[in-house]
Formats: sequence, C-alpha cells, structure tokens
Amino acid sequence: MRTQVVILGAGPAGLLLSHLLHKRGIASVILERRSPDYVLGRIRAGVLEHGTVELLDEVGVGARLHAEGVVHSAVEFGLDGHRHRIELEALVGRTVTVYGQTEVTRDLMDAGSRLGLPAIYEANVLALEHVDSDQPVVRYAKDGTVVAIHCDFIAGCDGYHGVSRPAIPSAKLTVYERSYPFGWLGLLADVPPASDALYYASSDRGFALCSMRSRSRSRYYLQCSLDERVDAWPDARFWDELERRVGETVAAHLVRGPALEKSIAPLRSFVAEPLRFGRLFLAGDAAHIVPPTGAKGLNLAASDVYYLSEALAGYYRSRTERELDAYSERALRRVWASVRFSWWMTSQLHRFPDDSEFSRRIQRAELDYLFRSPHAQRVLAENYVGLPI
Ligand SMILES: Cc1cc2nc3c(=O)[nH]c(=O)nc-3n(C[C@H](O)[C@H](O)[C@H](O)COP(=O)(O)OP(=O)(O)OC[C@H]3O[C@@H](n4cnc5c(N)ncnc54)[C@H](O)[C@@H]3O)c2cc1C
Repeated sequence: MRTQVVILGAGPAGLLLSHLLHKRGIASVILERRSPDYVLGRIRAGVLEHGTVELLDEVGVGARLHAEGVVHSAVEFGLDGHRHRIELEALVGRTVTVYGQTEVTRDLMDAGSRLGLPAIYEANVLALEHVDSDQPVVRYAKDGTVVAIHCDFIAGCDGYHGVSRPAIPSAKLTVYERSYPFGWLGLLADVPPASDALYYASSDRGFALCSMRSRSRSRYYLQCSLDERVDAWPDARFWDELERRVGETVAAHLVRGPALEKSIAPLRSFVAEPLRFGRLFLAGDAAHIVPPTGAKGLNLAASDVYYLSEALAGYYRSRTERELDAYSERALRRVWASVRFSWWMTSQLHRFPDDSEFSRRIQRAELDYLFRSPHAQRVLAENYVGLPI
C-alpha cells in the first residue's frame, strides 16, 4: 500500500488533519488502534475556541456544532462563594462554544466516511521504519495480517501513549514537564447546568468547576488528591462537596442527578520538542499535554494540525522543505502560550498541599486584581477565547 501521509490516531488531531489534507488535495490514511465506538465513548474536552470552530467550518463539519453547540459570551469566577463575571465578547469580540469532544469526533468521522477518507480502525501499529529517510514505512497488524504502508510523511497524532514520540531517538527530543500535586474528579450527569457560563471556583476547600456539554448535560469537577479513589465518592458525597465549594448563589441552582461517568485525571504540563524528526511530525497530545483548567488540549490539537496541513501543502506545491522546517517552531509558539495560560489558571485557582498563608493571599490578590481591572480581564479573555491561529 502507498499513500502520501499516514496519520497515526483518529482522535481530534488525526481526524481533522485528514480533512484538512483532503481539502488541500493530499491523500492520507488514518491508522487507529481502537474501534470507532471506543474512540467515541471517551469523555474528554468540551470547550472550543473561536479558531477551532472556524477550522471545523472550513472543513465543512460545522453544521451540527452550530445547531447544538452552546455559544458562551462570558465566563465566571468565584472566590469564597462570591461570583464575578468576565464578558469575553464585550472585551475581545470573540466567544467560545461548548460542544463535546465526542460530538466533534463523531462529526469528523461521519463526514470522513461520506467523503471516503481512508481510516483503518483496530490497526495495531508495529513499527515506524526509515523515518529519517524520504521513504518512510509504517507497518501495522490487523486481523492477524501484517501490512506495510509506504508514504512520504507520517503524522504522529496518536496521543500521549502512542508510538510516534517514542519512535524519536531520545537524544533528538527535549521534554519539559511539570506535574501538579492534585487531580480532578469529574462527574457527568444529564442535568441542566447550574450557570449559563462556565464557573471556576476557588475556595479554601479546593477548586471546583461547573462546566457543561449541552443545555441538558453538565460536567462538574472537584480538585482532589492524587491518591483519591473514584469509589470513595458516591454521588451524594460529590454533590455535597461541590455545593460547599461553589458558594450559595451557584449551589442554589445545582440540580443533582445520577452520574453517567465519574473519573479522576491527574494534572500536568508536558511539552516535547521539536515536533519533527525526519519525515515524522508530532501533533496534539502526542507532543504536549496541558492541565484542563484553561480548556486548551483539544484546541491545541486543532491548531497544530492546521499548521501541519499548511506545511505539507507547501511541500507538495514547491517541492522544498521550507515550510516543513518551520512547522515545529510555528506550532510550539502557540503551544507554549497555551501552556503558560493553563499553568497560570491552575496556579491561581487550586489549593496546593504546601500552600502557606502568604501564597494563599497572593492568589487572592491576583484574583481580586482580575475582578477589578478591565485590563487584566482583557488579557484573560484574549487567552480564554484562544490566541489567533
Ligand atoms: C481523561 C481526559 C480528560 C480530558 N479532559 C479535557 C478537558 O476537560 N478539556 C480539555 O481541553 N482537554 C481535555 N483533555 C485533553 C483533550 O481531550 C486532548 O487534548 C485531545 O483529545 C487531544 O487530541 P489528540 O487527537 O491529539 O489525541 P487523542 O484524543 O488522545 O487521540 C489519539 C488517538 O490515537 C490513538 N492511538 C494511540 N496509540 C496508537 C497507535 N499505536 N496506533 C494507532 N492509534 C493509536 C488513540 O486510540 C486515540 O484515538 C482530556 C484528556 C483526557 C485523557
């Protein structure tokens, strides 16, 4: 088998890349380790930046997103139960859209099937060969048969646990990492959201987030310790703790319901540089992870593959590697801006185990400044809706 670009992974990065390449007249094949149902069953991100919505529109999959997604023109913060609203649209003229990652994935998969974009599921990638030559080969196993695909380029969109990043010799890759000493316990329920905006609450009991996937499906999070276990949190305990952290005015609007899903995720920042080794390019979670506080993970996956599609189109147009050479630096500039913002949000809103009264007062002063200063609010709004792609 032969194609121009082999894409590893059918997460948001891989699926969107296949559409962007198709629009630019470049052939690709997606290889995904899991089944389509498994990929669609993963509950993850849900806040789309303005630029991500534009990219989904560009590839023609925006119709359901515009019909069912919820546009948010503001975001709210709470400090010890007091609510503060930041008007994103009034400040920077942009909004974010709440639309679940599973829905984005479904729209991209359905449109890909209609267009006949090749995607092979339950394909177990065994090896990436000759990556530093101009004739790389990807070998995978499916249904007991081993198949080799010859290609011009490999796009590593296979997430943090994929095979792409480990295929790069460690001497050629630099890793920057910060682990945070807590995680998020998340609960998904079919209940209307407590607030019409996302609500980020800082309290002495720890951080909480009131988020949503639609007008009838809510996603709530509690900061928890890293050794916490999900089965120690029956639904009633979760709702009681959430009420305590969000304060009375938001708690009054909380509607309780049975958990559809409950899970714990650790928080960390991770960046591997550069995003290229020979003919292999990294994009999305394969190259970087951000804590979910800034809602940037999925959005960075989208901007990475946009830059990569442009670089590949540049190569096929000019037969020079100028734009390919620039991909890593161009993408990483935006990645680090989001890593910084996500780190800032995480640092300001969470309680750290070694917090002193001094650091807690600094956090309060920072949030107080944000609530009072239109300049600080504009900086937050500009980052929250997403820096230009
Ligand atoms: C539990 C969890 C919760 C999250 N919550 C949020 C959130 O609330 N907000 C937010 O902004 N972000 C969140 N994120 C981050 C966000 O979901 C990711 O940034 C986003 O999924 C990145 O997309 P991706 O396509 O790069 O990677 P992924 O979505 O991870 O997709 C990678 C794909 O590659 C496949 N794959 C792996 N190995 C191989 C292989 N060897 N061969 C072929 N295919 C392979 C995987 O099965 C997967 O389908 C969360 C992530 C996780 C894990």
